[in-house]
Amino acid sequence: MGIPTERYSKITDKNQREICLLKAFPCAWGKCAFCDYIEDNSRDEAGMIALNNQVLNLVTGEYGVLEVINSGSCFELPKETLNQIEQVIREKNINKLFFEAHWIYKNRLAEMRKRMPVPIVFKIGVETFDHDFRESFLNKHADFKNPEEVARYFDSPCLMVGIQGQTKEMISRDIEYLKKYFKLGTVNVYNNNTTKIRRDEELVKWFMKEYQWLLDDPSVEVLYEITDFGVG
Ligand code: SF4
Repeated sequence: MGIPTERYSKITDKNQREICLLKAFPCAWGKCAFCDYIEDNSRDEAGMIALNNQVLNLVTGEYGVLEVINSGSCFELPKETLNQIEQVIREKNINKLFFEAHWIYKNRLAEMRKRMPVPIVFKIGVETFDHDFRESFLNKHADFKNPEEVARYFDSPCLMVGIQGQTKEMISRDIEYLKKYFKLGTVNVYNNNTTKIRRDEELVKWFMKEYQWLLDDPSVEVLYEITDFGVG
């Protein structure tokens, strides 16, 4: 169990907001080849609720925008935590909420949008729009055919760049689609973790040079370090 302050941060750069990393039940998919952060998942509901409350209590509402993340989808948060989020939204005058969900929850987003008292920006881990790389190599289990299909449900895709096996062409197309079909997005530069998926340093170097302009794009957040959001 982490110290709550490590689970709370403020994004003061683009899209200013407060961000909370909460604990949740196991990711419903849990098999993405590059993912080791599901180790944060838990089955101790009472423990999660207590910790999440502590973290949510740190929210001040100063930007009017709150992002809640967990190692999985918002649908895996304990019900009581969802109630608590709703309460914080009301008490701290939050007017926009960022949530994340896997593609398998696409038909439940409307239900969550209705449940929360403010508009939700739904993020999705797309990683890449290249179907084969995403499904066969990364084992993402997000079987959409094209970006239009994703944009029908979600607001903001998260892409991953700099993985061995990925190509410059794939990355270029991903960024093109991100800009063309979505108002917001996140690009995670891959960092090695405990999985077998490795970072491609040359590709990362190329990306950071070629896409320097993305750093100044107000609608795209580029996360170069895992902890760029200040949590985790
Ligand atoms: S959906 Fe997210 S949390 Fe679940 S295994 Fe994949 S990357 Fe990890």
